[in-house]
Amino acid sequence: MKIIHNINEMQHLCADARMQGQKIGFVPTMGALHEGHLKLVDEARRRSDLVAVSIFVNPTQFGPGEDFEKYPRNLDGDAEKLSARGADVIFNPSAGDMYPQNSLTKIHVDTLTNGLCGAHRPGHFDGVALVVTKLFNIIGPCTAVFGRKDYQQLQVIRQFTKDLNLPVSIVGMPTVREADGLAMSSRNAYLTAEERARALSLSRALTDAHALFANGVALLTIEDHIRNNLIASFDSIDYVTLASPDTLVPLEEAQRPPKVLIAVAARIGATRLIDNTVLGEDAPPIGG
Ligand code: AMP
Repeated sequence: MKIIHNINEMQHLCADARMQGQKIGFVPTMGALHEGHLKLVDEARRRSDLVAVSIFVNPTQFGPGEDFEKYPRNLDGDAEKLSARGADVIFNPSAGDMYPQNSLTKIHVDTLTNGLCGAHRPGHFDGVALVVTKLFNIIGPCTAVFGRKDYQQLQVIRQFTKDLNLPVSIVGMPTVREADGLAMSSRNAYLTAEERARALSLSRALTDAHALFANGVALLTIEDHIRNNLIASFDSIDYVTLASPDTLVPLEEAQRPPKVLIAVAARIGATRLIDNTVLGEDAPPIGG
């Protein structure tokens, strides 16, 4: 497995692979890899001849006061995990090379970014759209694999890929969870044992939501149930939103579509956790 830091070198390696008729599968990450990331790599491996994984903590998707500086970084550990899963190349560029002083272009996806994390992290999805577009242009993948853990991000990426006619097919994979239901996240490393125990209430509440929905309980009551559970164990709630899984538009009180996205962001101490589930589509997070 190769580790490439230089943009031109990566571009050439990928162009050569395509010339030889290889299909490139791509998994963009910020590193500190866990089994959730590695399942995406498995899927890329299944679908492609050459598997490229980027490890880049992208400064443009972090806001002021967010955890860019302290975000966990462990290239050696990540390389070991990726090599064991059969990845072919890691792309690990520097921020200076990715964003030269004179770059002026922004990519903004409208409406889909208005709610959920978009409302709480201004500019976040512009940063995601820009870095993913740049990485697609450097690597030229046939397939790019993303996690549904970042549900809004996946929808945003699907949208600009379509809008910009980018020749890459986007694959979304289910959220990988710890045995007790906690969604895997690089940010879980910030949690103390006591905080981690409290964090479990999120996946528990989302699991309850499936049972309540199946029993015909009103969406507003389901939302209240989740909020009440989070208030008891989290320090603050950014949002609990029930929305259309396709448009991400929040549901009106009277609506009861067959599929409902519940997306949550909440904080324990300084650690911001997100999770989601689609009622009527996903298995419940615990025991599903
Ligand atoms: P990140 O390194 O957090 O930017 O995530 C890189 C990719 O891994 C994104 O497509 C995420 O949605 C995906 N991912 C992160 N955590 C999980 C998880 N627990 N299950 C599935 N995919 C995940």
